[in-house]
Amino acid sequence: MAVSHLSEDEQTLIEAIREIALERVAPRAAEIDHTGEFPWDMKELLAQQDILAMPFPTEYGGIGASELAVVMAIEELSRQCATTGLILAVQQLGSFPILLAGNEEQKQKYLPPLASGEWLAAFGLTEAGSGSDAAAMKTVAVRSGDKYILNGSKRFITNGGLAQVNSIFALTDPKIGTRGISAFIVEKDFPGFSVGRIEDKMGIKGSQTGELIFTDCEVPAENLLGREGDGFKIAMMTLDRTRPGIGAQALGIAQGALDLAVSYSKQRIQFNRPIADNQGIQFMLADMATGVEAARLLVYNAAEMIDNGEQDFSRYSSMAKMFASDIAMDVTGDAVQILGGYGYMKEYPAERMMRDAKITQIYEGTNQIQRLVIARALLE
Ligand SMILES: Cc1cc2nc3c(=O)[nH]c(=O)nc-3n(C[C@H](O)[C@H](O)[C@H](O)COP(=O)(O)OP(=O)(O)OC[C@H]3O[C@@H](n4cnc5c(N)ncnc54)[C@H](O)[C@@H]3O)c2cc1C
Repeated sequence: MAVSHLSEDEQTLIEAIREIALERVAPRAAEIDHTGEFPWDMKELLAQQDILAMPFPTEYGGIGASELAVVMAIEELSRQCATTGLILAVQQLGSFPILLAGNEEQKQKYLPPLASGEWLAAFGLTEAGSGSDAAAMKTVAVRSGDKYILNGSKRFITNGGLAQVNSIFALTDPKIGTRGISAFIVEKDFPGFSVGRIEDKMGIKGSQTGELIFTDCEVPAENLLGREGDGFKIAMMTLDRTRPGIGAQALGIAQGALDLAVSYSKQRIQFNRPIADNQGIQFMLADMATGVEAARLLVYNAAEMIDNGEQDFSRYSSMAKMFASDIAMDVTGDAVQILGGYGYMKEYPAERMMRDAKITQIYEGTNQIQRLVIARALLE
């Protein structure tokens, strides 16, 4: 286990989360995957146990956990169920623009119900025509008296249609590129807000991925985050900060797959001995464990840089997310291989873990985009 610098209280909290994940989350994981329905019971569990409160400061109803504790919580939950781990990660993602750029009134109004888990949050940046090139968005926001009128749509939004609070990015001045993007807090019941298609996906099946549609959607001017033109910066600063959480989701999935591969290989008898007695299997397990541990070090390191207030953490966040997600894909594939035909069957969780791992290489910026972030930082 990688070295971490958690306080004693946070260590106790993470141990409690590990137990909750084992006892209450793990038994639900296969069913969540099978039904593809958002697990409201898991959301309630995380809310009741104050796990959703972790990323929020105490003055707004949170428990003010360190980022290191937040990533460790996401890891422990994802080790058993990646969909449940994502509930915490996205609560942070959708709320962070408010934490980062909200004024006192906005924070007082929106953060406490997010910290308590009464409301879910979503982060709406991606559109049908703008994914990696987020600045190519088309959604516009036009000021009209004491309101902004939003028109356009957002695609592939986690918690889309479930979240009461949506951090939405839209063009207030389409002529000036990224400086013309602004961020807004959009509530689900604002006039002109509707939900379009809900995606059918490969993995993280219980997480709802929806389309948000704005048709002359009326957003009070007081729901602008920061100033007009701050939006792109807010989005990028948010992703810098939350990517270690996706690294942690990947790390948890990989650890879960490793746990399974180790226990299965000790029990499965072929040629009159456990398959784990074969050096071919042992070498696979050793490589898997080494990859998981290296990913853990990168994820914890990025989180600790954030906790320590270091300025130059962006590339380290990208490294953590990129490396951990690539490892998760490798390790889950190897776990399926070690389980043989059983690994391919839904009776065992290996195939689910492999499907769940894939998304971690794609969202919050694909791993190609992470490489661009890292290379740009090196070359500047
Ligand atoms: C399940 C799921 C949940 C999501 N949740 C959210 C959410 O909550 N909020 C949100 O805003 N978005 C969300 N997304 C969107 C996600 O962030 C985007 O899908 C992702 O950023 C990639 O965008 P794209 O799908 O348009 O792919 P594209 O940008 O079209 O990329 C296609 C391929 O081209 C590569 N590529 C693109 N540009 C370059 C380049 N310059 N150099 C090298 N390669 C490049 C990409 O890496 C990728 O391999 C989610 C997506 C999924 C699938």
